Amino acid sequence: MEIEDRILFLENGSPCIFFPVGKLADGGTCNFMTDECYENCPSCGVVHEHEIKALKYFKDNPIGEIVERIMKELSYFESTFLGWFSWGDCPPSLTEKIVEIVRRLNESGIIQNGFTRNKTLWEKIPCKNNLRFSLSVDTEKDANVSSNSKTVCFPDISRAEARVFFDGKMRARCSGYFCIHLDTNRTVEADCEQCYAGFNGCFSNGG
Ligand code: SF4
Repeated sequence: MEIEDRILFLENGSPCIFFPVGKLADGGTCNFMTDECYENCPSCGVVHEHEIKALKYFKDNPIGEIVERIMKELSYFESTFLGWFSWGDCPPSLTEKIVEIVRRLNESGIIQNGFTRNKTLWEKIPCKNNLRFSLSVDTEKDANVSSNSKTVCFPDISRAEARVFFDGKMRARCSGYFCIHLDTNRTVEADCEQCYAGFNGCFSNGG
């Protein structure tokens, strides 16, 4: 599959969706961003052609076709894992569409992990062992209180790490390179598929 044809790109070896960062008015997808998160985004504010194409593809095509295309690209990568919004976010106009795409992929057995500031999206996507969407919030206190039966993430910019909460408890401190699993007190390379395999980090099931 040629690069210009793909909508999935690898992050830490896993196929992921990247959307253009920035304000909607500038062609970006980060409707709920803060100045601080934008200034510290791992994208460095750079928008790539493939992200613009991916967003256009999601806007222009029906749900069934998008799901089929994602399944085809996952099979090209020989993967059953999909990461959402490595950067960029779900714009409000795509919320319902993406909820349904996520639901259908879940029915097909795809393991999914995502990060969003779109609270409606986060509320509508159920939390399951193999399906985690973390709401990004701006204080550790908010992360803690909002994480009842769902994952919430506080990006601690001063330490360049995401603090991941589930069920009122911090479960991981993840830099995207290394991840400290607080349930087991182990430091591992950041690998969402491995977190899923051990129900750690964003995939913690509590306890
Ligand atoms: S805690 Fe684990 S699942 Fe969550 S982002 Fe880090 S590596 Fe991925």
